[in-house]
Amino acid sequence: MAFDITHAEADALARDAADPLASLRGEFLIPRHDDGSEQVYFCGNSLGLQPRATREALLAELDDWSNLAVEAHFRGRHPWMPYHEFVRDDLAALVGAKPHEVVAMNSLTVNLHLMMVSFYRPTPERSAILIERGAFPSDHHAVESQIRFHGFDPTSALIEIDADEANGTISADAIARAIDEHGSRVALVLLPGVQYRTGEVFDLTAITRAAHAKGCRVGFDLAHAAGNLELALHDSGCDFAVWCSYKYLNSGPGAVAGCFVHERHARADLPRFAGWWGHDQATRFRMAPEFVAAPGADGWQLSNPPILALAPLRASLSIFRRATMSALRAKSETLTAYFDALVREQLGDVLHVVTPNDPARRGCQLSLRVKGPREAGRSLFEFLTTRGIVADWREPDVIRAAPTPLYNRHIDCLRFVLAVREWAATRG
Ligand SMILES: *Cc1c(COP(=O)(O)O)cnc(C)c1O
Repeated sequence: MAFDITHAEADALARDAADPLASLRGEFLIPRHDDGSEQVYFCGNSLGLQPRATREALLAELDDWSNLAVEAHFRGRHPWMPYHEFVRDDLAALVGAKPHEVVAMNSLTVNLHLMMVSFYRPTPERSAILIERGAFPSDHHAVESQIRFHGFDPTSALIEIDADEANGTISADAIARAIDEHGSRVALVLLPGVQYRTGEVFDLTAITRAAHAKGCRVGFDLAHAAGNLELALHDSGCDFAVWCSYKYLNSGPGAVAGCFVHERHARADLPRFAGWWGHDQATRFRMAPEFVAAPGADGWQLSNPPILALAPLRASLSIFRRATMSALRAKSETLTAYFDALVREQLGDVLHVVTPNDPARRGCQLSLRVKGPREAGRSLFEFLTTRGIVADWREPDVIRAAPTPLYNRHIDCLRFVLAVREWAATRG
């Protein structure tokens, strides 16, 4: 059956016109292609676009610094002393946590290390960390270095779950089996919320339950899940979670990351690497030598926060607050299902969808394996770039395309598909 482009365009535009969240796109700065048209930006999984409000939020802090200097800690429009608290409620709502369970601080890998200091306490009988074989390199490095730091050997203390499904995804059964088989010698289970390469979503609650039943601690890396999925971190029961804010949270390159510590640990006397900003606020400025941890996630802070880096997070979270994660996720499911169906129907000869088809097992990202040699994949990827379509490339043959519900549209998905067809036609 021939593909009727005119009809497809009218259909995509009608879907966009009916989208209750369509106006959110206007709150973002959409980069332009060489010809002046707006890019099709499918790279929010890597670096989210800049909200229009961000510049203003940053300038306000620069102004307070120039006008008030040290006084801005107390008299700024958003006083710097309690600044991290201005993002707390929105952050908690975003990940389904209680406010005292979350804190914005540091960067993702730093937070992962800080959390492992507290939650990876290996003993000779229970020294292992359980991860997935395809873990993001930074997570792998962090885990391996922690194992060595404690004097254990990664060849025995690092256990990696292999993908067991055809597309390189991991079934819930495989995870349950690995926990069951190795759990008694596992100190920490560390898995992602969304696997960065395949786009697969993991069931945080089921994993936590299985791991806790075996006496393991559980942490999640939510780099690709925060701002993408509706999360219920508190209810999941996991011990900790970490995420970055420059991907789906649109807070700019190297933005201040997030950290969750379950409330059951809020007042526990856990070993930690401490700094003065984690000291109980009521007595912090007595400047006494002994450390008294602030209750909750705040107690893991080290330094006074970088205000210029937190201002974009505050601006961005206010968009999530107004939009609500549940409405965003509803749109996201519709948009990605539309994209997925178009790719399968129109591009079956060119692209293979790696990401699970079940909406419960994916977020907005589709990972698309290019059929044919690696050279074909690179050629397609570069062709898309010349058409103003920005996705990203993962060696050896995967294009990741993430239509995010905040600023992407059905017409963007259609433009992607039409461009791939155009490329395929040039190759005969
Ligand atoms: C993006 C990403 C990181 C990046 O770590 P930074 O410390 O922010 O540089 C780490 N882990 C995962 C799973 C990621 O997706």
